[in-house]
Amino acid sequence: PPEQFTPDPEKKTLVILGTGWGSVSLLKKIDTENYNVVVVSPRNYFLFTPLLPSCTTGLIEHRSIMEPIRNILRHKKASVKFYEAEATKIDYEKRVVYISDDSEIKGDIAHTEVPFDMLVIGVGAENATFGIPGVRENSCFLKEVGDAQNIRRRIMDCIETACFKDQTEEEVKRLLHMVVVGGGPTGVEFAGELQDFFNDDLKKWIPEIKDNFHVTLVEALPNVLPMFSKQLIDYTESTFKEEAITIRAKTMVKKVTDKYIQAEVTKPDGSKELETIPYGLLVWATGNAVRNVVRDLMNQLPAQANSRRGLAVNEYLVVNGTENVWAVGDCAIANYAPTAQVAGQEGAFLGRLFNTMAKAEALEKELEKLSERQALAKGEEERNQIFDEIRERQKQLRRNKQIGPFQYSHQGSLAYIGKERAVADISWLSGNIASGGTMTYLFWRSAYLSMCFSTRNRVLVLTDWVKAKLFGRDVSRE
Ligand code: FAD
Ligand code: NAD
Repeated sequence: PPEQFTPDPEKKTLVILGTGWGSVSLLKKIDTENYNVVVVSPRNYFLFTPLLPSCTTGLIEHRSIMEPIRNILRHKKASVKFYEAEATKIDYEKRVVYISDDSEIKGDIAHTEVPFDMLVIGVGAENATFGIPGVRENSCFLKEVGDAQNIRRRIMDCIETACFKDQTEEEVKRLLHMVVVGGGPTGVEFAGELQDFFNDDLKKWIPEIKDNFHVTLVEALPNVLPMFSKQLIDYTESTFKEEAITIRAKTMVKKVTDKYIQAEVTKPDGSKELETIPYGLLVWATGNAVRNVVRDLMNQLPAQANSRRGLAVNEYLVVNGTENVWAVGDCAIANYAPTAQVAGQEGAFLGRLFNTMAKAEALEKELEKLSERQALAKGEEERNQIFDEIRERQKQLRRNKQIGPFQYSHQGSLAYIGKERAVADISWLSGNIASGGTMTYLFWRSAYLSMCFSTRNRVLVLTDWVKAKLFGRDVSRE
């Protein structure tokens, strides 16, 4: 493996922001010999988000779904520089990114700048709160490893506090009320995992909570999982009913305090009513919002004046209004859902595109040199030989330039819904297969296992599943 990162003045500097699905797929594909590659991210690992909901209950240990970025980079042909830092501002005119070390330990320099010739933005999104009062202060989110650890701690804290001596019944009920806001896949998967935890382990380990532990899923729209087919929505709703998870549809949260949420409920007759719902644990999963660094760049570019949900990009993922900035994943708006599947394909596309661009540039340089040699050539034979070489390079160049615009290929949607059941809308040949149930769950498990980043991750996840089956989840509060 390469040891030293020495920027080559002959090569362009490519700065990649983020170590998520988009950026890491790009890093996997790109031939790092062609550029001076610099990666900036506050997270020095890749996180396999599809299994994050399982970390909230300890079914899977969080380190099993993390892959150190250093391990990914050390396998690249040419060395890549990694800075564990947050990009705080992108100055498009100056072509620099300002970065800041936000970790606990700081050296003499904690803020600096990184110049770029080419920039890829893969910083993902942050949690949407829609400015609803109290959400940030009182909710747990579910996006990062720290969030899952926080939820795991709080579940057990609520339970142990509910078991505190002389606790009133009303307070016990509140503490054991686990409320999830947002009926998208994150909310549904978390609710399913939490109910599993209760059914498989908590009920046995702490039987005194069994009559009061309750999971409620709150959703503003008339049903959960709007991206799935009607049949699978019905299947999810009936499974939740069996599991005793309450779905509160047409219920829009308006305010959050440390002990209750206030929601506007739409009644069957269309009338609206404000309701107070006490909770012990509140998990907020209402989707994505634009990160500050992205919003700031949007403000610098007149072409982004109409963008709201992220950076508008063209069919080659070039950020509109720029010629040397690309965006992938949740921070880019390319008319696809913000999913790992999309981010991964976009990143891989950019990897191929950059490899092709580098090859084209190298061929063009060679052609220039050949033309110069041709002009200076003395004999007929030499001229003909150079002419043949030029034709060959031109042919290679034509073939090389044929990379088409980005096209997303949807493999399907898959979500775990608890009780060893999953739902799947899979695109198969030209048709669609909608399926739910235990077989789908086994498919879900094997699909996610095979999608894990490395063999190491696969072995760790498999071991965690076996461990939980044999010994139950660990209920100690860290
Ligand atoms: P991310 O993967 O979020 O990565 C963003 C990266 O940017 C991170 O490394 C972050 O640390 C870094 N970063 C943040 N701010 C900065 C900054 N200022 N400067 C530099 N770097 C920064 N999708 C699916 O298709 N299937 C699923 O099953 C699925 N399950 C999910 C489960 C959960 C719980 C969640 C939260 C999401 C799930 N998703 C799933 C969605 C999927 O995770 C996202 O769409 C995907 O992560 C987007 O990839 P990304 O590269 O844009 O961003
Ligand atoms: P989402 O945007 O898919 O769903 C959020 C839900 O919250 C919406 O249904 C919305 O109506 C609801 N909501 C918003 N404000 C509300 C309020 N005030 N009160 C009540 N409900 C409210 O968000 P998500 O589930 O976090 O998913 C984000 C992205 O990640 C999506 O693109 C999703 O497809 C993807 N993802 C996929 C999977 C999977 O494929 N298994 C798992 C997790 C996330």
